[in-house]
Amino acid sequence: MRDRYKVGSAEYGRINDALKALGHNGDGNGVVVTVGGDDPNGSTTEVNDKGITVTFGRNLLDARRDIKDSQAASDLTGAVAHEGSHVSKGQVWLKDRKEQKTFDVEVLAYTTQVDMHRQFNSMMREQGKGPYELEMLNGDREGSTTVIYSQGWSEVDVRTAIGTFLERSPKYRLTPQSKDLAFPTKKKGK
Ligand SMILES: [Zn+2]
Repeated sequence: MRDRYKVGSAEYGRINDALKALGHNGDGNGVVVTVGGDDPNGSTTEVNDKGITVTFGRNLLDARRDIKDSQAASDLTGAVAHEGSHVSKGQVWLKDRKEQKTFDVEVLAYTTQVDMHRQFNSMMREQGKGPYELEMLNGDREGSTTVIYSQGWSEVDVRTAIGTFLERSPKYRLTPQSKDLAFPTKKKGK
């Protein structure tokens, strides 16, 4: 999908970094990709001295979920873009060990996810479907959600919505002032 953005554009760069970082299974880039984890719908990236492990929830890769189904496709490409972005930053950290704030790392990952979603929408449009909003489950008991992308939104709109989501979600509770560091990841990855 990165080919739909112009080479050299910020969107292309973010998606390209994420996909390159994830690499291909067994290509020796040191990234282990697994399926499973605690949350069947979620995905996590763990970065520590031992290396990088990405885990995709079972439902994301469930063979019974038809990938032609737009929600299934959006969930999977979104997770790949998001975790790929974490892997890319994790690889930087493994090299330079410079502190990276969790807030910044999550903003980048969700921005990359939105880049991918916009490309997903342009593919869907060719099939006469969509456009679809990108709606995140906040992860509270009420099952509330935050929309982080909707058709026609500017970059600033997306950035503001991602900020709102990161602050609102009990999984994150992050603001630009949060001192929380991304790497090495704590046991419960995000
Ligand atoms: Zn994340």
